[in-house]
Amino acid sequence: MTPDVRDRTDRPASLGRRPADGCPIPEASWDRALRLIGRHDEVALACHVNPDGDALGSMLAVAFVLRSMGKRVVASFGDRHFAVPRLLGFLPGQEMLVPPEEYPAAPELMIVFDCSTFERVGLLGANAASAREVIVVDHHPSNTGFGTLDLIDANAAATAMLAEQLVYRLGGRLDRDIAICLYAGLVTDTGSFRYSSTTPAVHQMAARLVATGLRTDEIARELWDRSPFGYLKVLAHALERVTLEGGLVWTYVSRVDRAAYGLPYSELEGIIDIVRRADEAEVAVVLKEDDHGDWQVSTRSKGTVDVAAVCAALGGGGHHNAAGYTSYETVEETMAKFRRELRRVS
Ligand code: AMP
Ligand code: MN
Ligand code: MN
Repeated sequence: MTPDVRDRTDRPASLGRRPADGCPIPEASWDRALRLIGRHDEVALACHVNPDGDALGSMLAVAFVLRSMGKRVVASFGDRHFAVPRLLGFLPGQEMLVPPEEYPAAPELMIVFDCSTFERVGLLGANAASAREVIVVDHHPSNTGFGTLDLIDANAAATAMLAEQLVYRLGGRLDRDIAICLYAGLVTDTGSFRYSSTTPAVHQMAARLVATGLRTDEIARELWDRSPFGYLKVLAHALERVTLEGGLVWTYVSRVDRAAYGLPYSELEGIIDIVRRADEAEVAVVLKEDDHGDWQVSTRSKGTVDVAAVCAALGGGGHHNAAGYTSYETVEETMAKFRRELRRVS
C-alpha cells in the first residue's frame, strides 16, 4: 500500500509551508517550478554524462510522475556513445530514454538533474542553451546555478532527495518504480549509507522508499555485487601498479587493459572504493581512460583534504570527499598536475 501524498503522514517535514531548517531552496522556487511544469505539456529531462545511480534514478523518477500527469516526456544524457551503464540496467522507466540526437533541439522546458556544471550536460548542452526554461535540480556545493530556475540544495546527500520532493509536490504517488529509481540515487551517493552525508533525513527517506516493497537486497546486488569476469582481471592490473606516495594512493586503468577483456568503461566505477581503502593514504585517485582516450579522474578524500577544490582547479568539481574531472593529457602529466594542485590545497 502506497498512500497518495495528500493523505501521507510520513512525508518530509520540508513539505510544510515553511522551508525546512537548513534547506536553502526557497518555497517561491518550488512554486515557480510547479507553475512552469504545470503550463507545459512536454518536458525534456536530462542528467549528467556517464550517468550514475543518482543522475539516472532522479531523472527517471521525475519522468514517471510527469508521465502520470499526462505530459509528454523525453529523457536523455549527452554522451557521444549513448548507452545506459549495465550497472543501472535494472532501473525501470528506460523506455522513456531517447538518444541525444532524438532530443528536442530547443525544448520549451528542460529539467537537468545532478549536473554540477553546464559542461556536465555534455552533448545536450546545446539543447539546454536553446531551451526557453531550464530547471537545475542538484546538490553539488560547487553548483552556482546555470538554469533559469535553480533548485539546488548543497545539504542534500543526493539529487534523489530533491527529486523525491518534486514527486510529492507534483502530487505524485510514491509507487515502487519511482521508489526503485530514488533508492538507487540515495544509496549510490551515500555509499550505501556509509558516507558522512548520511543524515537522519536520508534514513527517513529510505524508510519511505523501502515501504513501497522494493527489494533492497536485489538492488544492492545489481549495483555492487556483480561484474563480468573481465573486471577481476582489469582490477588485478590496476592493483598491481597501485602506488603510495605519502598520503596519496593512486592507479590507472587504460583502454588497452579493458579491451583485452572486452570490459566497458562503466564497469570501472567501483575500483576507487578498493583503492581508497589504504590506511596510509588520505587521498585516493583512479585514472580511467574512456573510449575516446580521455582520462576520467576519480578522487576521494577521507575528510581533511577538499578534493572538490583540487578537481575544480583542474576543470572538474564534485563534493569535499568525492570529486572528479576529465584530463586530456598522459597519465604522468595528469598526475604531475594533480600533485601540484593537491599541495596547493592541503
Ligand atoms: P566519480 O569519481 O565518477 O564517482 O565522481 C565523484 C563525483 O565527482 C561525482 O559525484 C561528481 O560530482 C564529480 N565529478 C566526476 N567527474 C566529474 C567531471 N568530469 N566534472 C565535474 N565533476 C565531476
Ligand atoms: Mn552524479
Ligand atoms: Mn549526486
